[in-house]
Amino acid sequence: MQPVARAANDHDPPELADDECEGLALALLTRVGAEGWTTSLAPRALARALGLRLLPTAPSGCRGTVDLEARTLRYDGRGSPETVTQRLAHELGHLALAEGGARVPHPEESASRVAMALVVPRAAARAAVGRAGLDPVRLLAELPGPPPAWVLVRVAWVARRAVIVRLGGERWTYAPDGAGIAPAGPWEREMVAIVRRTGRPHRTILGDEAWPVGFAGHEGVVILLAG
Ligand SMILES: [Zn+2]
Repeated sequence: MQPVARAANDHDPPELADDECEGLALALLTRVGAEGWTTSLAPRALARALGLRLLPTAPSGCRGTVDLEARTLRYDGRGSPETVTQRLAHELGHLALAEGGARVPHPEESASRVAMALVVPRAAARAAVGRAGLDPVRLLAELPGPPPAWVLVRVAWVARRAVIVRLGGERWTYAPDGAGIAPAGPWEREMVAIVRRTGRPHRTILGDEAWPVGFAGHEGVVILLAG
Protein backbone atom coordinates (compact mmCIF):
# COMPACT_ATOMS: atom_id res chain seq x y z
CA MET A 1 0.00 0.00 0.00
CA GLN A 2 1.71 3.15 -1.19
CA PRO A 3 0.60 6.67 -0.29
CA VAL A 4 0.90 7.70 -3.91
CA ALA A 5 -0.30 5.60 -6.82
CA ARG A 6 2.62 4.10 -8.70
CA ALA A 7 2.27 2.94 -12.27
CA ALA A 8 2.90 -0.79 -12.50
CA ASN A 9 5.20 -1.94 -15.28
CA ASP A 10 6.08 -5.34 -16.69
CA HIS A 11 9.12 -5.69 -14.44
CA ASP A 12 7.24 -5.25 -11.16
CA PRO A 13 6.58 -8.54 -9.39
CA PRO A 14 2.83 -9.14 -8.96
CA GLU A 15 1.34 -7.97 -5.66
CA LEU A 16 -0.12 -10.60 -3.34
CA ALA A 17 -3.81 -10.91 -2.48
CA ASP A 18 -5.07 -9.65 0.89
CA ASP A 19 -5.43 -13.18 2.26
CA GLU A 20 -1.87 -14.09 1.29
CA CYS A 21 -0.51 -10.99 3.08
CA GLU A 22 -2.64 -11.85 6.12
CA GLY A 23 -1.37 -15.44 6.11
CA LEU A 24 2.29 -14.38 5.97
CA ALA A 25 1.81 -11.93 8.83
CA LEU A 26 -0.05 -14.52 10.87
CA ALA A 27 2.72 -17.08 10.37
CA LEU A 28 5.30 -14.64 11.77
CA LEU A 29 3.06 -13.59 14.67
CA THR A 30 2.34 -17.22 15.53
CA ARG A 31 6.07 -17.91 15.85
CA VAL A 32 6.22 -15.52 18.82
CA GLY A 33 2.80 -16.45 20.25
CA ALA A 34 1.27 -13.11 19.20
CA GLU A 35 -1.35 -14.42 16.78
CA GLY A 36 -4.16 -13.39 19.14
CA TRP A 37 -2.55 -10.10 20.18
CA THR A 38 -5.29 -7.54 20.86
CA THR A 39 -3.32 -4.27 20.77
CA SER A 40 -0.97 -2.66 18.28
CA LEU A 41 2.54 -4.11 18.18
CA ALA A 42 5.82 -2.17 18.13
CA PRO A 43 8.02 -3.46 15.27
CA ARG A 44 11.12 -3.29 17.48
CA ALA A 45 9.49 -5.52 20.11
CA LEU A 46 8.39 -7.96 17.41
CA ALA A 47 11.90 -8.02 15.92
CA ARG A 48 13.39 -8.73 19.35
CA ALA A 49 10.88 -11.52 20.00
CA LEU A 50 11.90 -13.04 16.65
CA GLY A 51 15.54 -13.01 17.76
CA LEU A 52 16.61 -10.56 15.07
CA ARG A 53 19.62 -8.31 15.23
CA LEU A 54 18.68 -4.77 14.20
CA LEU A 55 21.24 -2.54 12.52
CA PRO A 56 20.11 1.02 11.70
CA THR A 57 22.51 1.21 8.74
CA ALA A 58 21.24 0.25 5.32
CA PRO A 59 23.44 0.00 2.20
CA SER A 60 23.31 3.22 0.17
CA GLY A 61 20.33 3.61 -2.14
CA CYS A 62 18.32 1.12 -0.10
CA ARG A 63 15.82 1.47 2.73
CA GLY A 64 16.64 -1.87 4.27
CA THR A 65 17.73 -5.48 3.83
CA VAL A 66 16.97 -8.77 5.54
CA ASP A 67 19.64 -11.44 6.03
CA LEU A 68 17.79 -14.62 6.96
CA GLU A 69 20.89 -16.68 7.74
CA ALA A 70 22.48 -14.05 9.98
CA ARG A 71 19.04 -13.21 11.44
CA THR A 72 19.91 -9.56 10.85
CA LEU A 73 17.71 -6.77 9.64
CA ARG A 74 19.35 -3.61 8.35
CA TYR A 75 17.28 -0.48 7.92
CA ASP A 76 17.77 3.19 7.22
CA GLY A 77 17.70 4.72 10.70
CA ARG A 78 17.57 8.33 9.52
CA GLY A 79 14.47 10.48 9.77
CA SER A 80 11.65 10.99 12.25
CA PRO A 81 10.88 8.22 14.76
CA GLU A 82 7.60 7.60 12.93
CA THR A 83 9.37 7.22 9.58
CA VAL A 84 12.00 4.89 11.02
CA THR A 85 9.38 2.75 12.76
CA GLN A 86 7.40 2.48 9.51
CA ARG A 87 10.55 1.47 7.62
CA LEU A 88 11.41 -1.15 10.21
CA ALA A 89 7.89 -2.59 10.01
CA HIS A 90 8.19 -2.67 6.20
CA GLU A 91 11.42 -4.68 6.51
CA LEU A 92 9.63 -7.13 8.81
CA GLY A 93 7.09 -7.41 5.98
CA HIS A 94 9.99 -8.42 3.69
CA LEU A 95 11.12 -10.94 6.30
CA ALA A 96 7.64 -12.53 6.33
CA LEU A 97 7.66 -12.64 2.52
CA ALA A 98 11.12 -14.23 2.48
CA GLU A 99 10.18 -16.83 5.07
CA GLY A 100 7.01 -17.55 3.11
CA GLY A 101 9.13 -18.33 0.06
CA ALA A 102 8.29 -15.23 -2.03
CA ARG A 103 10.58 -14.72 -5.00
CA VAL A 104 13.01 -11.80 -5.06
CA PRO A 105 12.44 -8.96 -5.79
CA HIS A 106 9.44 -8.84 -3.51
CA PRO A 107 6.37 -6.82 -4.45
CA GLU A 108 6.87 -3.63 -2.43
CA GLU A 109 3.23 -2.81 -1.78
CA SER A 110 2.69 -6.33 -0.43
CA ALA A 111 5.63 -5.90 1.97
CA SER A 112 3.88 -2.84 3.39
CA ARG A 113 0.56 -4.67 3.55
CA VAL A 114 2.15 -7.51 5.52
CA ALA A 115 3.79 -4.89 7.75
CA MET A 116 0.38 -3.35 8.51
CA ALA A 117 -0.97 -6.78 9.41
CA LEU A 118 2.00 -7.28 11.76
CA VAL A 119 1.76 -4.00 13.67
CA VAL A 120 -2.05 -4.13 13.81
CA PRO A 121 -2.80 -7.85 14.20
CA ARG A 122 -6.25 -8.96 13.04
CA ALA A 123 -7.44 -9.62 16.61
CA ALA A 124 -6.33 -6.10 17.59
CA ALA A 125 -8.23 -4.50 14.71
CA ARG A 126 -11.35 -6.49 15.57
CA ALA A 127 -11.14 -5.60 19.27
CA ALA A 128 -10.70 -1.90 18.44
CA VAL A 129 -13.72 -1.92 16.11
CA GLY A 130 -15.71 -3.69 18.81
CA ARG A 131 -14.99 -0.86 21.23
CA ALA A 132 -14.87 2.16 18.93
CA GLY A 133 -16.86 1.24 15.84
CA LEU A 134 -15.39 2.74 12.66
CA ASP A 135 -14.90 6.28 14.02
CA PRO A 136 -11.32 7.02 12.90
CA VAL A 137 -10.44 9.33 15.78
CA ARG A 138 -11.46 6.71 18.32
CA LEU A 139 -9.71 3.96 16.36
CA LEU A 140 -6.45 5.90 16.40
CA ALA A 141 -6.77 6.27 20.17
CA GLU A 142 -7.44 2.53 20.48
CA LEU A 143 -4.43 1.56 18.33
CA PRO A 144 -1.57 3.92 19.20
CA GLY A 145 1.91 3.56 17.75
CA PRO A 146 1.75 2.56 14.07
CA PRO A 147 1.49 5.30 11.41
CA PRO A 148 -2.12 6.62 11.52
CA ALA A 149 -2.74 5.96 7.82
CA TRP A 150 -1.66 2.33 8.31
CA VAL A 151 -4.04 1.90 11.26
CA LEU A 152 -6.99 3.28 9.30
CA VAL A 153 -6.27 1.26 6.17
CA ARG A 154 -5.71 -1.89 8.21
CA VAL A 155 -9.00 -1.54 10.11
CA ALA A 156 -10.87 -1.03 6.81
CA TRP A 157 -9.16 -4.17 5.50
CA VAL A 158 -10.22 -6.26 8.52
CA ALA A 159 -13.74 -4.74 8.46
CA ARG A 160 -13.91 -5.37 4.69
CA ARG A 161 -14.81 -1.78 3.92
CA ALA A 162 -13.44 0.58 1.29
CA VAL A 163 -11.70 3.65 2.65
CA ILE A 164 -9.94 6.79 1.45
CA VAL A 165 -7.50 8.30 3.95
CA ARG A 166 -6.21 11.80 3.23
CA LEU A 167 -3.58 12.78 5.74
CA GLY A 168 -0.87 15.42 5.58
CA GLY A 169 -0.94 15.72 1.78
CA GLU A 170 -0.94 11.96 1.21
CA ARG A 171 -3.83 9.85 -0.06
CA TRP A 172 -4.15 6.19 0.92
CA THR A 173 -6.90 3.91 -0.32
CA TYR A 174 -8.11 0.43 0.36
CA ALA A 175 -10.92 -1.67 -1.11
CA PRO A 176 -11.67 -5.34 -0.36
CA ASP A 177 -10.70 -8.10 -2.80
CA GLY A 178 -8.20 -5.99 -4.72
CA ALA A 179 -10.91 -3.71 -6.13
CA GLY A 180 -9.41 -0.39 -7.10
CA ILE A 181 -10.53 3.03 -5.92
CA ALA A 182 -10.77 5.71 -8.57
CA PRO A 183 -8.38 8.67 -8.41
CA ALA A 184 -9.72 11.65 -6.44
CA GLY A 185 -12.55 13.28 -8.39
CA PRO A 186 -15.18 15.99 -7.82
CA TRP A 187 -17.23 13.82 -5.42
CA GLU A 188 -14.25 13.19 -3.14
CA ARG A 189 -13.16 16.83 -3.25
CA GLU A 190 -16.68 17.87 -2.26
CA MET A 191 -16.73 15.44 0.70
CA VAL A 192 -13.36 16.77 1.87
CA ALA A 193 -14.48 20.38 1.44
CA ILE A 194 -17.65 19.81 3.50
CA VAL A 195 -15.76 18.19 6.35
CA ARG A 196 -13.04 20.86 6.33
CA ARG A 197 -15.66 23.63 6.30
CA THR A 198 -17.80 22.27 9.11
CA GLY A 199 -15.13 20.42 11.10
CA ARG A 200 -17.74 17.71 11.66
CA PRO A 201 -18.47 14.23 10.29
CA HIS A 202 -20.66 14.12 7.19
CA ARG A 203 -22.88 11.29 5.98
CA THR A 204 -24.36 11.07 2.49
CA ILE A 205 -27.82 9.66 1.78
CA LEU A 206 -26.09 6.63 0.25
CA GLY A 207 -24.31 5.90 3.54
CA ASP A 208 -20.79 7.11 2.73
CA GLU A 209 -19.23 8.76 5.77
CA ALA A 210 -16.45 11.31 6.07
CA TRP A 211 -14.72 12.32 9.30
CA PRO A 212 -12.23 15.04 10.13
CA VAL A 213 -9.06 13.77 11.80
CA GLY A 214 -6.47 16.06 13.24
CA PHE A 215 -3.47 15.57 15.50
CA ALA A 216 0.18 16.59 15.72
CA GLY A 217 1.17 17.63 12.22
CA HIS A 218 -1.54 15.60 10.49
CA GLU A 219 -4.75 17.25 9.35
CA GLY A 220 -6.93 15.03 7.30
CA VAL A 221 -10.20 13.56 6.23
CA VAL A 222 -11.17 9.89 6.26
CA ILE A 223 -13.92 8.73 3.90
CA LEU A 224 -15.47 5.35 4.60
CA LEU A 225 -17.47 4.20 1.60
CA ALA A 226 -20.88 2.64 2.14
CA GLY A 227 -20.50 -1.10 2.70
ZN1 LIG B 1 10.77 -2.77 0.51
